[in-house]
Amino acid sequence: MPAKPKKAAGSGKRSARKKCPICGKPATEASRPFCSERCRDVDLNRWLSDSYRIPAAKDDDEDAD
Ligand SMILES: [Zn+2]
Repeated sequence: MPAKPKKAAGSGKRSARKKCPICGKPATEASRPFCSERCRDVDLNRWLSDSYRIPAAKDDDEDAD
């Protein structure tokens, strides 16, 4: 078995582009994994407000959403 061919790591700019989890637009290098700082901010706020919630609530409603 030959050694596995070296993948084009580094070269080849088309790395798997992730979509912005907030709006679904392609993420940009500057704001990965988001498309913009705005979306990053949105996510941060979402995350923060989520952690502000009482974790115990999760046990209460399993079929929420
Ligand atoms: Zn976005």
